[in-house]
Amino acid sequence: MFSVAIDGPSGAGKSSISKAAANQLGFIHVDTGALYRALAFTALKSNINIHDEILLKKLLDSTKVEISFIDGEQSVLVNGENVSGKIRSEEVSMGASNISKIPIVREFLLGLQRELAKKNNVIMDGRDIGTVVLPNANVKIFLTASPEKRAERRYKQLLEKDEKKEYNDILEDIIKRDYQDSHREIAPLKPAEDSVLLDTSDLSFDESVDAIKNLIEEKL
Ligand code: C5P
Repeated sequence: MFSVAIDGPSGAGKSSISKAAANQLGFIHVDTGALYRALAFTALKSNINIHDEILLKKLLDSTKVEISFIDGEQSVLVNGENVSGKIRSEEVSMGASNISKIPIVREFLLGLQRELAKKNNVIMDGRDIGTVVLPNANVKIFLTASPEKRAERRYKQLLEKDEKKEYNDILEDIIKRDYQDSHREIAPLKPAEDSVLLDTSDLSFDESVDAIKNLIEEKL
């Protein structure tokens, strides 16, 4: 099987770019952030203190996380329920960033991610795919863009959805999440030593997809 690891900060467009490249190449695309989001959603729903290790362990023991693909579209199931439509809120974003710092949570999701790469040609995106999850991936890409460019893209996305948020607040959130993701003790966000750095600040969406496809095709 052929595996591609794409890591990078939030808002760099990892998931949408990876998904388009995967569709064009006939690979599956796994958005691992959705797994952390699904667990954060489950913990929020059950109202437990995620820092109480005994309670968290109990929750994980009774939680089954699965991924299914319908027409190339990933769905995350928690105990059989498709939670994909419920994990994109700001509350769940912050919850995911918090819960993903806890070692037993990362361990809990490791097997599922590796299993998917064992059985499929995959483009997997996240924060620690090239460094921890798939250290032997055939291609490793660190996809990034300047914080200002990412904030600008997010600002426009929100406007399209008729949601207005101050540009400066978005930029501040991005800088805060970058710091939190790259300074945590376990599996911090950092480029794998053998990764290719791709900065999409000055690339359009289609140019970014093509750049990724070219890097993959060179190794296929
Ligand atoms: O990519 P996304 O923004 O959906 O991820 C939500 C959160 O999950 C991130 O802020 C990050 O803290 C965490 N995450 C992680 N490792 C991954 C993917 C996501 O820690 N492989």
